[in-house]
Order: sequence, then structure tokens, then C-alpha cells
Amino acid sequence: MKPVCVLGNGQLGRMLRQAGEPLGITVYPIGIDAEPEAVPYQKSIITAEIERWPETPLTKELAQNTNFVNREIFSLLADRLPQKQLLDDLQIATAPWQPLTSPDEWPAIFARLGDFIIVKRRIGGYDGRGQWRIKPSEEHQLPDEIYGECIVEQGIPFSGEVSLIGARNSQGDCVFYPLTHNLHQDGILRMSVALPETMPTLQQSAEKMLSAILNKLNYVGVMAMECFIVGNKLLINELAPRVHNSGHWTQNGASISQFELHLRAISGLPMPTPDVCQPSVMVNLIGSDIEPQWLSLPLVHLHWYEKEVRPARKVGHLNLVHSDKTSLQRTLTSLSPLLDESYQAPINWALEKLS
Ligand code: ATP
Ligand code: MG
Ligand code: MG
Repeated sequence: MKPVCVLGNGQLGRMLRQAGEPLGITVYPIGIDAEPEAVPYQKSIITAEIERWPETPLTKELAQNTNFVNREIFSLLADRLPQKQLLDDLQIATAPWQPLTSPDEWPAIFARLGDFIIVKRRIGGYDGRGQWRIKPSEEHQLPDEIYGECIVEQGIPFSGEVSLIGARNSQGDCVFYPLTHNLHQDGILRMSVALPETMPTLQQSAEKMLSAILNKLNYVGVMAMECFIVGNKLLINELAPRVHNSGHWTQNGASISQFELHLRAISGLPMPTPDVCQPSVMVNLIGSDIEPQWLSLPLVHLHWYEKEVRPARKVGHLNLVHSDKTSLQRTLTSLSPLLDESYQAPINWALEKLS
């Protein structure tokens, strides 16, 4: 099997490497500052676990390499402005938005989008960083340098958030997982629940939306589409051209994980629809030290990233999978005292999804 080089050496690269091992695919996660000579990129398929990167000797070299799958697409999707334009061009529903170029635009913005506005940096935001929630008269609190660097979005009173993880291969075949239910707190994904029984209308419309995007871009590999549920419709929040945190449950809850699916797609290997026959819960470990007692619960699969623990930093996740929802609920209840109190609300949310 051809080796795979992954631009970026965070947890996503690490989990791609883990997924490659049983397939006999050697995966090399690579930091952007690596010496190009030390990286076997010439004889590898190249992919990325990050969406944007500064110019370094390595990234300059990779940017010219035709083995870099989707290399033209990252710059388009890493900037919210062309990403939103793409959705508008495809007439796919997304949270209403406009560019933010000058403070003079505020009256028109409030008139058009309403009184709850989210300002988002076009480039570089993640885990809710680089965003401001603004009501009329609060706009003067924004720093001056954001004009031209941001878009504004209507604040959406959603009833829930879901994401669709899918993959496309170079023949244009697309496969999808069931929609994942996601709970965010302070802009960071806290918990996901995936159920094998899909919500047929939402599932179909999500698959149609993501297929249109994947095909338009001639994309190869895994992509994630984050959505708001409003009434019985989906509005796209954002796209991520890579494996995604809300797909981590597939490591233990699907017959093919999103990491394996991505490697299959970019390597031209068979890519059947992954089978999902049990409910899964994924608990993001955010800024917490490792707790060996998690492992006293038999349903808990620990995925620890071996990163330095810092507040608000994703340092690992727990996957819980079982065919019996009550067993999952019992495990979540037992897990509760082993996590800090900020997990209480997410646990209650997951318990309800499983009821
Ligand atoms: P990620 O880590 O997923 O890349 P991000 O920093 O790009 O996060 P978003 O996904 O844009 O941020 O927003 C984070 C969360 O903030 C969303 O999942 C949602 O809960 C909330 N949010 C974002 N945009 C809106 C909106 N227009 N209306 C209501 N809530 C929103
Ligand atoms: Mg994002
Ligand atoms: Mg997001």
C-alpha cells in the first residue's frame, strides 16, 4: 500500500496513523516546520488534518505536488467568505450572512439579519475562537481590525445541531454516516450522540446537500458538514474538508471509522457504506487530566491524545457504544462523578437523546 503523508501532526493525524496500521498503510503525520528532505512525500499520497497553513519550506513544496489530494480546495473552504459564497451559488441553505467590511454597515446588518448577530473571523477560527455575539449598540465593542477580516451571520435559534460526515472517492461515489447530534458549549463540541435509526427526512436532505458540495468540488476523502436544525429543515453552519471531531464515535461505533474511510477514499480502495448498528456517545475531554477510573467502566473506550493539558484544549475523547441504550445511559451516569461539573448538562442532554 502507498504511504500517506498528513500535513499537520495533531490528534487527527495521530488517529489517521492509527487507522492506517491494520490496512498496512503507513501514515506519516508531519508538522508544517519539518524539513522537506526528511519527509517521504514524493512517494506518498498527501492529505491534511488542518485547513490552512503558513508558507514554510515544506508547505511550499507540498502545494506544488500533484499527489496532494484536494490541494486546491483547502484555501476555498478555510475562508468563510468563499465557503459561504459556494453554498449560495449551489443554493444550499446556510445561516444568512454577509461580509463585514466597514462599521458603517451595522444599521443595514441589523435591519437585514435581525438583532442577534454573530461576527466570525473569515480565517483561522476554531472551537468558537474568533467570534463575537453582538446585539444592537454593542457593535462599538468590536476591535477595529476585524473589518474586512470577518463575516456576520444571523444568530440562528436552532432546536439542535447535527453534522453529516461523508466521503467521496475519485469515481464520484459518496457514502455517509447517520447524522450525528452535537452539543456545543462556549463554541466547543462537548458531546455527540449517533443513533443507527436515522431521521429519514433530515438524513436525506443532508446527504443531498453534502453530495452536491462534494461533487461540485470534485472532492476526494472525508468531509464534515455542520448544520443547525430549524423546524424540519437544515441550515449549514460550516464545512470542514477533513476528518472531524463529531465523527470520532465512528472509531468504535461503525464498521469503518471516518479515519479509515478517509484513507480508503484517498488511496482508491473499496469504500462501501459503513455499517452502524449500535448507538454511540462521544465525550470530548476538554482541559482535563487523564483519569484512570474512566477505564473502570467496561463500555468506555479512551482515546487520549498525549497533548499538554491546558484549559479549553481538546486532550482526548471517550467513546461509548452499546446496542442497549439503557446500558449507555447507566455508563453516562457512572461517568458523571468522574468528570467535572461542566459535563452535567451535556450528560443530561445525551441521556435524553438516548431515551
Ligand atoms: P469548529 O471548532 O467547529 O471549527 P468554529 O470556531 O469554526 O468551530 P462555528 O462552528 O462557526 O465555530 O461555531 C461554533 C458554535 O457556535 C456552533 O456549533 C454553534 O453552537 C454556535 N454558532 C455558530 N454560528 C451560529 C449562528 N449563526 N447562530 C447560532 N449559533 C451559532
Ligand atoms: Mg470551524
Ligand atoms: Mg464548527
